[in-house]
Amino acid sequence: MNTFRSTIICFFLCVFSSYAQSIQDIIDAVDLDNLSLTLREFTGEITTVVDENTVTITNRQQANNELAGDYLVQKLEELDNITINDQQFDSNGRNIIATQLGKTNPNNIYIICAHYDSVADYCADDNATGTAAVLEAARILSTQCLDNTIVYALWDEEETGLNGSSFYAAQAAGNGDNILGVLNLDMMGYDGDAPGTAGDNQFDIDIRDFAGSIDMKDDIVAVLNSYTFDLSVIVVNPGTFSSDHSSFWANDYSAVLLGESWETNDQTPFYHSSGDRFSTIDLPYFHELTKLTTAYMATVGGLVNVDNGVSQTVTTLTANQASASYQWINCDTSSSISGATSQSYIPSVSGNYAVEITSGTCTELSECIVFDTLGLDDFLASEIKVFPNPVKTNLNIEITNNTESIALDLFDVSGKLVLQKSITNEVISLNMKNLPRGVYFLKVSSSEKTGTYKIVKE
Ligand SMILES: [Zn+2]
Repeated sequence: MNTFRSTIICFFLCVFSSYAQSIQDIIDAVDLDNLSLTLREFTGEITTVVDENTVTITNRQQANNELAGDYLVQKLEELDNITINDQQFDSNGRNIIATQLGKTNPNNIYIICAHYDSVADYCADDNATGTAAVLEAARILSTQCLDNTIVYALWDEEETGLNGSSFYAAQAAGNGDNILGVLNLDMMGYDGDAPGTAGDNQFDIDIRDFAGSIDMKDDIVAVLNSYTFDLSVIVVNPGTFSSDHSSFWANDYSAVLLGESWETNDQTPFYHSSGDRFSTIDLPYFHELTKLTTAYMATVGGLVNVDNGVSQTVTTLTANQASASYQWINCDTSSSISGATSQSYIPSVSGNYAVEITSGTCTELSECIVFDTLGLDDFLASEIKVFPNPVKTNLNIEITNNTESIALDLFDVSGKLVLQKSITNEVISLNMKNLPRGVYFLKVSSSEKTGTYKIVKE
């Protein structure tokens, strides 16, 4: 979203909440443009930049996918709150594992995963789709506090025998890792039913009766039924062993495969060929499946509801979340603002500001808010009168031909807001009788104009 213009347009109270606070907000944050861009970059339809070099990732076959691995590491490194394990498991094999530690139960682990290797050029459906969906879940959920740990895993060497996931699952079992569910995404972009129409939006969940895999399917279906998705589920039991979830079944972990419907014979006709390209992907279908998988991970992850939205008036930024601790940040310099640790903050200059909100063990960052009142015109002297000055009791403000709501903010000399009022008529009085003597600044703001007046209280 473009917060720059909205700062000017929304005036008295704007709430910025592009960051998610509820499961529905998480669903709404899944961005098809972002998914499409990742797909096109990761299948070499367009160039991308990896380690400052412009590159084309056309092929991701096992012996030829270092660049693809580097791309994934770079994408994940852009995110906060995760640690990356670049896991070399044999001479050419390399899993990319990103972990977001749970705030309450860090030992409870849920995995969302996909293989990123391929058998031919492009291979958009198999499995750039699953890879892009994992990256999108990471992009959204890494901004959130979650009770449980989420592992975003991208496997290598699936196509040569599930080698990457086998290595990881065996190691996890050996360590006694408490993995409670593994959501494996493999081929989730093709929906070709009813040629010439939009398809039937059926997708498969493949399960077998290993550990809690059937319960896990029920949980996914519960999420499917709790929110609105343009999807129709086909449960496949006994499900296929032919993807990475079966590495976890082999180690007695709960796991499912989710993807397009092989069960109804509606898989891509370009399977394992270089005809499997971006142009064959049903983007709305892929979008819906990514919303579902991201919503499921947010649900089992235990989304903690810290409101990291920020409200804004012409003078003040206020964190929506009450009863927390706060640190305001200057986004332009990426630095904390000394002393700015209240729920509200009054910037002294235009700029981009964010707030870090800590509630219990949970810290979330708001987005950067553009704070810019300098774009407003000043009131002309003929349009406004502020009198008497110096003032003892009532300060009168007269605005000629006023027809809109106007904000009055009175600050003391230290910049602290001491009085706030709005007027919709032409004349108003501010009672300053009970304020200490001294110098004050009155800020008067309409949607188009602003003025600041030095007032002396006697
Ligand atoms: Zn695959």
